[in-house]
Amino acid sequence: MGELYKFFADLHVHTALSPCAGDSATPPNIVAAAIEKGMQMIAVTDHNSAENVAAVVKCGKLHGLKVIPGMEVASREEVHLVCLLETVERALDLQAIVYAALPPMSNRPDHFGRQLVMDSAGAVTGECVRLLMAATDLPLDRIIAEVHRLGGLAIAAHVDRPAFSVIANLGLVPPDAGFDAAEISAALARDEAAVRFPSLGGLPIITASDAHRPEEIGGSPTLFLLEKMDLEDIGMAFRGRNEREYLIQ
Ligand SMILES: [Zn+2]
Ligand SMILES: [Zn+2]
Repeated sequence: MGELYKFFADLHVHTALSPCAGDSATPPNIVAAAIEKGMQMIAVTDHNSAENVAAVVKCGKLHGLKVIPGMEVASREEVHLVCLLETVERALDLQAIVYAALPPMSNRPDHFGRQLVMDSAGAVTGECVRLLMAATDLPLDRIIAEVHRLGGLAIAAHVDRPAFSVIANLGLVPPDAGFDAAEISAALARDEAAVRFPSLGGLPIITASDAHRPEEIGGSPTLFLLEKMDLEDIGMAFRGRNEREYLIQ
């Protein structure tokens, strides 16, 4: 087995494509902020879209930051899932499934916020017209099954928040839901979370910033002990395999 290294990760970051995120959340600003905060790895997780993933991955490569392709999908139950994929192509595969399940309505930028598509230098190349803040028509278990079919990981987002979380909306984490991990906000300690939400069971608990502005990135990272920064190793850390670990700071 190869040597293991420590990597700081923020696995829940929005770009200016998310209607509720600031226009300053450009690929270069996100990458610069993550590096400044000492992150080695982030995941790009816009609401129901992966249209800015390739740009942030490319910008990250240029500056030595690992960027994991991802998406924060809203289920039919209005539960948010942080979905992580191994490649941009797999993220776009998930996007096709999600786009087919969004209501056929357009975004109202004046009302919900703009949904900016950008290149790796941060130039605006377009605007997504879909209503990304809507919930999809996909049930929770279908999303998790699709993510797993695509070789990805599905994390229950912000389970300690009063809205859009699996616990807030369903009352508990269904024991057979198939999540790979659950995310809590920095406000809650990991052992406290396990006591307050017993239905988390033995699920790995991580923290992430859910940053909607670059300055929020890295606010509550998870420290991983991995051989390499990819989903295979992160998955092994979640399952406690091969000495890989994850630690909340
Ligand atoms: Zn969310
Ligand atoms: Zn989010």
